Amino acid sequence: MTSVNFKKRKKEKMVGKKQAVGSGKIPSSGPQRAKPVVGFFSFTCCEGCEFTVLFLDELPELMEKLDIQHFHLIKQKNKDAEFDLAFVEGAITTKEEARKLKRIRSQSKLLVALGACACYGGIPAMLNFIENKELGKYIYNQQMLSDSIEAQPIASFVKVDYYMYGCPILKKEFVDFVSNYLEGKETTPFEGPVCRQCPRRGVNCFLREKKVCLGALTHGGCNAVCIKQNIPCIMCRGPLETANFPAEAALFKSWGLEEKDIIGKLGKFGGQNVRKSMGAKPADAKEKKEDDKKTRP
Ligand code: SF4
Ligand code: SF4
Ligand code: SF4
Repeated sequence: MTSVNFKKRKKEKMVGKKQAVGSGKIPSSGPQRAKPVVGFFSFTCCEGCEFTVLFLDELPELMEKLDIQHFHLIKQKNKDAEFDLAFVEGAITTKEEARKLKRIRSQSKLLVALGACACYGGIPAMLNFIENKELGKYIYNQQMLSDSIEAQPIASFVKVDYYMYGCPILKKEFVDFVSNYLEGKETTPFEGPVCRQCPRRGVNCFLREKKVCLGALTHGGCNAVCIKQNIPCIMCRGPLETANFPAEAALFKSWGLEEKDIIGKLGKFGGQNVRKSMGAKPADAKEKKEDDKKTRP
């Protein structure tokens, strides 16, 4: 069993390279062309963030204002172009994906990470901690790709101009961001944890009932939507760079939670850097490949 490391960690170790520095402000210069050229790109993920865009009531209106050249969910012919704005969802899990991402970056003035997978590695990063013997049970009849690498957030490979958090992203945040962009305005991200918008803050906090709620560790801005439905926060918007993981882990341990469960809960959306910083060991890459051969159907 892995053990939780309660020692203080360096901030960058806790949250990775640049991916959790915060959403940052989008440059206010705005689009240079009458109709900015936009691309949507998807890497390893469920594509739920792109579907969120697809299901926007405002999409027809936005499509009149944007020249969308690449969005495989709505376009039969997708073009390579010089993009004013590129939206990227998904974690990077192969060398080929990393090469493609770098090419997209080189062709894009602004690049936005869409959702937890792109921002932190999200759900795909969980595979880094599972041996292929185990993974083989979940991959249907497929073979692992020969150029697989550790699942990583896109900021491990390219500069990201803006982070849009969530699993999936929030419709309103996307619409506000694009509207601001079209008007040449900055988008200022919400600051602080989920607790800031939580109606249970204080005596009704889930933590007082010994229910695992990760709101204090998590980027706010979702209006504490889950808590309003009586569901504790699972950190889908990713870890705040100021989050005190050791304190939260110690609290859960004092309730009797097992260390592997604590790592699982705190690392689910925290990506590999949070898991690693808590002592979880990634499966060895070489070993993964060898295991993989054994477990291929
Ligand atoms: S962040 Fe969530 S909804 Fe978006 S692509 Fe990843 S898994 Fe899907
Ligand atoms: S988000 Fe969770 S931890 Fe924060 S105040 Fe609300 S119930 Fe408590
Ligand atoms: S409350 Fe937590 S899990 Fe729910 S949407 Fe907000 S960040 Fe995600």
